[in-house]
Amino acid sequence: MSTIRAIRGMNDILPAESRCWQRLEAVASRVLDNYGYGEIRLPIVEHTALFRRSIGEVTDIVEKEMYSFDDRNGESLTLRPEGTAGCVRAVIQNGLLGTPRRLWYSGPMFRYERPQKGRQRQFHQIGVEAFGIATPDIDAELILLSARLWRELGIADGLQLQLNSIGSPAARQGYREALVSYLARHRDSLDEDSQRRLDSNPLRILDSKHPDTQALLADAPVLTDYLDEESRLDFARLRELLDAAAVPYVVNPRLVRGLDYYNKTVFEWVTDRLGAQGTVCAGGRYDGLVEQLGGKSAPAVGFAMGQERLVLLLEAAAATPAPAVPDIYVVNVGASAELASVRALEALRSALPQLRIVQHTGGGSFKSQLKRADKSGAGWALIWGEDEAAADTVVVRALRGDSGQEQIPVTALADYLCAHITSLQG
Ligand code: ATP
Ligand code: MG
Repeated sequence: MSTIRAIRGMNDILPAESRCWQRLEAVASRVLDNYGYGEIRLPIVEHTALFRRSIGEVTDIVEKEMYSFDDRNGESLTLRPEGTAGCVRAVIQNGLLGTPRRLWYSGPMFRYERPQKGRQRQFHQIGVEAFGIATPDIDAELILLSARLWRELGIADGLQLQLNSIGSPAARQGYREALVSYLARHRDSLDEDSQRRLDSNPLRILDSKHPDTQALLADAPVLTDYLDEESRLDFARLRELLDAAAVPYVVNPRLVRGLDYYNKTVFEWVTDRLGAQGTVCAGGRYDGLVEQLGGKSAPAVGFAMGQERLVLLLEAAAATPAPAVPDIYVVNVGASAELASVRALEALRSALPQLRIVQHTGGGSFKSQLKRADKSGAGWALIWGEDEAAADTVVVRALRGDSGQEQIPVTALADYLCAHITSLQG
């Protein structure tokens, strides 16, 4: 019979890798907590209309990347391709707007893309959103928070912050006209996708990776020249705040985002270490989205980081945590030894919860169990046989260095370990 394999682009994360993921998530949740952000847990499936209305009909995501299906009731549902839409839906629905609100979430996202290194069909994001604050100080806060995260993870060196302002919707409309009139004169030199976008979503052409289109764009009008006064001032203030905090950045006037809801500040953290999948974190302001989704108008700004890409950077930085090795491996031979060891271990786990203790299960001789103990990498073995069970004692054996062993009463076990295991001291 043929074996069933995972869906293309949807990967297992095995224990050897998950240490890195846990570290990323632990550091992120601590940093976010330190800045006053609360975790929100959101459904993975939403009404398809939510994404069509927020991300935009003529974006890559909505046009060709969504996992949409009809449920048994005939309603169109979609596996979330990103987190902002659901988060906005949730803050409206739960009445969380009205005062400033700082939130974060994490979890799997789904896009039907061509799988490659750093690009999956099920991938994971940690997303951060701030609602109800219109001023660029909150944009700066989000960027500083992300910069701190890279430092604490030890990956700051390879990352560059790119910034742009895409202005108000009206300013963008003015720019859009100028761009279309320039590009229309060179329509034949544009790649096929860009030709199509010229009518539907011309700003996305700025994002094209096609060399001919890129060359054409070198002389195209620049968004910066069309910015409205307020966006210009906010952008200048954001840069001042980043300068004050000594966070370096480059202004990239071609930076636009692939989702329709952004305005004013947009930013990306990029690296040249991951090939074409160079953006590890991206976001910006989306002041119109809350109202667009039926809420009372509220300014908002947020970003999302790609966990797969960050894990690749962590691995490359050799910042991978050491594999988990038990402190203690427990050998037990015989029925009464098994009972005695289970009883003693439950007490020991309560007394010293920081210890990683692996109980031998499945029986076997002393020789085979001790071999397992050695292979486990544990520093210590606790050994129970029928004699120890009868006398209410245990043999403690050091497995590394000058290995010796001692037989002690079970009642003295916790104290004995505290006195002998270095990680339990201080
Ligand atoms: P890209 O240009 O690489 O396709 P994007 O602009 O579509 O990225 P966003 O929607 O802004 O990405 O998502 C934020 C981050 O999530 C990205 O910067 C990236 O790190 C990560 N990400 C997006 N799509 C994927 C994917 N298919 N696989 C892995 N990570 C992804
Ligand atoms: Mg994409």
